Amino acid sequence: MVKTRFAPSPTGFLHVGGARTALFSWLYAKHTGGEFVLRIEDTDRERSTQEAIDAIIEGMNWLDLSWDEGPYYQTKRFDRYKEVIDQMLKSGHAYKCYCSKERLEKMREEQMEKGEKPRYDGCCRDSHEEHGADEPYVVRFKNPKTGTVAFDDMVKGHVEFQNEELDDFIIQRSDGTPTYNFCVVVDDYDMGITHVIRGDDHVNNTPRQINLYKALGAEVPVFCHLAMILGDDGKKLSKRHGAVSVMQYREEGYLPEALINYLVRLGWSHGDQEVFSRDEMIDLFTLDAITKSASGFNTKKLNWLNAHYMKTLPKEKVVGELKYQFDLLGVDVSNGPSLADIVSNYAERTQTLKEMAQKSVCYFKDIEAYDEAGAKKWMKEGSVEVLQKSLNVIENLESFDVKSIDEALENLAKELEIGMGKVGQPLRMAITGGPTSPGIGDTMLLVGRERTIERIKKAIEHFSKK
Ligand code: GLU
Repeated sequence: MVKTRFAPSPTGFLHVGGARTALFSWLYAKHTGGEFVLRIEDTDRERSTQEAIDAIIEGMNWLDLSWDEGPYYQTKRFDRYKEVIDQMLKSGHAYKCYCSKERLEKMREEQMEKGEKPRYDGCCRDSHEEHGADEPYVVRFKNPKTGTVAFDDMVKGHVEFQNEELDDFIIQRSDGTPTYNFCVVVDDYDMGITHVIRGDDHVNNTPRQINLYKALGAEVPVFCHLAMILGDDGKKLSKRHGAVSVMQYREEGYLPEALINYLVRLGWSHGDQEVFSRDEMIDLFTLDAITKSASGFNTKKLNWLNAHYMKTLPKEKVVGELKYQFDLLGVDVSNGPSLADIVSNYAERTQTLKEMAQKSVCYFKDIEAYDEAGAKKWMKEGSVEVLQKSLNVIENLESFDVKSIDEALENLAKELEIGMGKVGQPLRMAITGGPTSPGIGDTMLLVGRERTIERIKKAIEHFSKK
């Protein structure tokens, strides 16, 4: 059975790159009917924080990437690492190194001077010197001295390193803590991981890890190193490009469905198809369709997908995220139209839920000020009179529905021998505070009859004074 994992180091938020790694690992597990593990790599205690752990889990939940096992925490597995290190010392796959800092430093300087790559010279590897029990030491892995270590990466193809290039790296520090490359291997081995899907910044760790697997007598997993993500400008994606944390996308008004669909296309393709439902992704996702080259972030495409999902997803999915936007704005939506009605009216007119919420605050809160440019353009001589006449029409309507409102106001425009714009725009200003909104009948329905009447009266009063 296929088993994949996502193994973030909790030193920051779940960012776009991490989310893509998580998604690909998750998809591959789902595609194959396998399992997906979440493992928190928190051995770097100085840089790991609880906030980061919470943020990663929050991001995974929001994207609806659920795990079958975990979250495991490396800091809870120290006894296990110790056990493996002891075994390796006994079996001769590892050794204690007592070299002093000064010696290592000197060696390093000499190597650099000669233009060589700094590496441990293996001094303690075969030493039989006696050492006191309290003498500090590190534990090093006995890396093979000759031959090659190779793997067939699902993305990069055949990758080969000379063992000569790799030195006897430290697996346990002098304070007794295990190191990163070691923990990853013990974890992936213990957890039965069959496919390691991760960013290609880890390619250079892979040969060392493979040698460790072999020393442990473990089967080496399949590796799949994903090319990095570049920003709109072709440079490595970073904070400079704006939102990089997944939850920041939520704040900016994107739907998780849009972000997931966007992420799947960052380095994976199926013909030139752009829109994938989750089931379709699971069905179609294979590792051999992952692209070798770096993928560029394209905010326009993300916006396009978001607009698509705002229009096509079942309303109740969109409503939850819209409510979140109103909460951010501090707007109470209990007094006003249903959020589903807002979505129906605004999905075609906006690209993000943030924009949707901002544009529809007027349905829940009194108008504090009229849009200046709109007022200048539409509240001209005669506009107040038109408002007054419209008010009469609205007050006398038998039925307050879109068709009746629109028809009645069109008749009024005809009667006054003016364009519909000259009726609709002052009304929009009056009932929403600005010059843009859905059709006038729809807008009035969103505002509600009583409030519509109240607002027209208020606008008459306000603009009469001017
Ligand atoms: N913890 C590593 C990181 O966050 C990932 C290690 C791995 O996937 O093997 O970059």
